[in-house]
Amino acid sequence: MGLVVGAFWLGSVIWTFKDIRARSRDFVMRLFSVGLVALLTLPGFILYLFIRPKETLTEAYERSLEEEALLQNIEEKPTCPGCSRRVEITWQACPSCHTRLKKACIQCGQLLELSWKVCPYCTTLQTNLNTDVLADLTYKPQTTSRKRQTSETYSTGLEFIDENE
Ligand SMILES: [Zn+2]
Ligand SMILES: [Zn+2]
Repeated sequence: MGLVVGAFWLGSVIWTFKDIRARSRDFVMRLFSVGLVALLTLPGFILYLFIRPKETLTEAYERSLEEEALLQNIEEKPTCPGCSRRVEITWQACPSCHTRLKKACIQCGQLLELSWKVCPYCTTLQTNLNTDVLADLTYKPQTTSRKRQTSETYSTGLEFIDENE
């Protein structure tokens, strides 16, 4: 009988030692837990099961990683300044309230912040003229859009003269 109790005592002490080592880095906590079971035997062991940290260190570490990943997801998705709905970083305008979010570089087409005057990808200066033009023009080189504009002005000028005559 004494042998069985002794074996149980030793087993529970060793189990507690391994268990608390996986759950706490705190030396005092470890010593207290093992001491509790060693001194109070079965009641101490039951008490330990109640007071021990709920997660093992590995579980806590994994949870913190998950929380970090979740936080990053939230941070990566910006919100619309107009209606504060979630928007994708690749969007040029908010689909809900039509707020302009980004502009495309007039030279290389990369998405730029609206306030940027120079494209960080190709160093092209973003002129005021081109920030307001439609999306289909933004992908074309600066020279093309300028040429198109001058020819349009020219033709309207001719029409104006025609009407006068
Ligand atoms: Zn919006
Ligand atoms: Zn560019």
